Amino acid sequence: MTYDLILRNALVEGRDGAVDIAIAGARIAEIAAGLAGEGAAEIDVEGRLVGPAFVQPHIHLDKVLVGSVMPPNVSGTLAEAIELLHATKRAATVEEVRERAGVVIRQAVLAGTTTIRSHVDVDTIGGLRPLEGIAAARADHTDLCDIQLVAFPQEGIWRDPGTDELMRQAMEQGADVVGGMPHWEADHEEARRHIAFCLDLALAQDADVDMHVDETDDGNWRSFEILVEEAERRDWGPRTSAGHVCAMAAWDDEFAAASIRHAARAGVNVITNPPTNLMLQGRNDSEPRRRGIPRVKELLAAGVTVGAGQDCVDDAFYPFGTADPLQVALIVAHAAQLGTPEEIATALRMVGEDAARILRLPDYGVLPGARADLVVLDATTGRDALREQSPRRWVLREGRVVGETVREQALLRSGTAAG
Ligand SMILES: [Zn+2]
Repeated sequence: MTYDLILRNALVEGRDGAVDIAIAGARIAEIAAGLAGEGAAEIDVEGRLVGPAFVQPHIHLDKVLVGSVMPPNVSGTLAEAIELLHATKRAATVEEVRERAGVVIRQAVLAGTTTIRSHVDVDTIGGLRPLEGIAAARADHTDLCDIQLVAFPQEGIWRDPGTDELMRQAMEQGADVVGGMPHWEADHEEARRHIAFCLDLALAQDADVDMHVDETDDGNWRSFEILVEEAERRDWGPRTSAGHVCAMAAWDDEFAAASIRHAARAGVNVITNPPTNLMLQGRNDSEPRRRGIPRVKELLAAGVTVGAGQDCVDDAFYPFGTADPLQVALIVAHAAQLGTPEEIATALRMVGEDAARILRLPDYGVLPGARADLVVLDATTGRDALREQSPRRWVLREGRVVGETVREQALLRSGTAAG
């Protein structure tokens, strides 16, 4: 038997000892120890851990890398960040957005990511320019990764008159997913109208829904519950995701537990974005301060699928970030206190399998028949990969090597100067 590519001596979670992974075309054909047959190309991965490629479930590619051209966010709050962004958004051109996004897309691929879901601002300030820019960046990188675009009404829908029409246009012009920002509206009644509008638009377009929900420390905001209710009523729960949900940290235990059970029943997903939210939330608290992270362990225990996203890279919201899912997983492990072997595996799934389920990616995983989107880590266990933030030795997309990283280090001690 001849295959297009064989990865020899790979460690794969759930399998004992080293195995060989045979790839035919874009798919994994077979996995076995000492696999007979030959590959047109073969890579000896020398006992490294091979996992499914990472999935980035929540990022804002239209805003990345603007940190150096805008004034700093002095209060550190979400409100000031949005205010600061207005000027950038007014000035942004399609080409400039396309270029900035491209840099981060390529960085994400080198970090082992082959699927990205990006929110893109849709409002009366920038109109559909950001969407055009990101759609162009997506077209520039079709050989490297898949990108889902979320039409995101950052300024609200009813608070920013005209955005409802722009949202419809965005969905006609290449956006895949309907976004939302209900807590940005005046009150819960307006938030419900906002949520209903977005869900109805999604149903009409047969699209998923992925909203920014209750990204505030204010425990009085409970639009998550409205989203779950409205999604359940339309039988759209598994196609609905709630991002951020920071207010969940401020809710009382009883309400939080009931709401989480409701989300589990409806099949609504949650995406936590701890890099940005640990930085932004609780800014006006004295100690003890709210950390702005949803109740990850309770969500998981209730059976809610939870993904973990980067959210921001070098913008008014967050000055760091490299679109590296291993960094996100390490931060989520700290934020949600995931430290046992099972919990560490969960943190990794939140940027892998569970994120893939949220994005409804078919044929995901290291198994025969799955798409050969793989990452070869310079590590033998997931915990070591997290702990050492191991280089991604090779990244494969649809059976083709699309990235490689070689890290060279040398420790120089007295008497052993480098040759
Ligand atoms: Zn976000």
